Amino acid sequence: MFSPSSQVLLNPKPSRLSVDMERTFIAVKPDGVQRGLIGEIIKRFETRGFKLVASKFMKASEDFMKTHYLDLKDMPFYAGLCKYMSSGPVFAMVWEGQNIVKLARMMLGETNPADSKPGSIRGDLCINIGRNIIHGSDTLENAKREVGLWFKAEEFVEWTPCAQPFLYE
Ligand code: ADP
Repeated sequence: MFSPSSQVLLNPKPSRLSVDMERTFIAVKPDGVQRGLIGEIIKRFETRGFKLVASKFMKASEDFMKTHYLDLKDMPFYAGLCKYMSSGPVFAMVWEGQNIVKLARMMLGETNPADSKPGSIRGDLCINIGRNIIHGSDTLENAKREVGLWFKAEEFVEWTPCAQPFLYE
């Protein structure tokens, strides 16, 4: 049995946020899945304070990955990358938060794990550029495109994390 005051504390009304929220697309790649790193990666986004709004465990087709990586179609590694990305399951997610596109890229580290600082996901958890365990949208424009490519409107979950008033003023 809660008193009215403790109920207020347990269920704080979400304050009107003065910040603009962004969404970004994050995927644990087949190497990250095989290495058992899904939980570690989710933990980093959760503990930073970001909000999960959609997720699914799936195997993407090679054609789908060719569309996803269309910007890289002229790169020598494009065919191998798309084949590899469709070779096993990926864990696809959409995360929400203030400035999340930029902050998530900082959390990921550099494309090449060898250039990634310790403390970043790639700097802590992988070695090779072709097996860099995680994808994250690099611009807000690409985030919008990738979120729309990977998720349908009905796959998003509407919810308000109880920590929200303690993350944003
Ligand atoms: P990021 O994933 O950091 O946004 P890019 O979009 O440039 O990087 O490249 C997409 C993916 O292609 C990288 O995450 C990496 O797995 C792979 N890749 C990039 N450059 C190379 C390379 N020189 N050799 C092999 N694979 C590469």
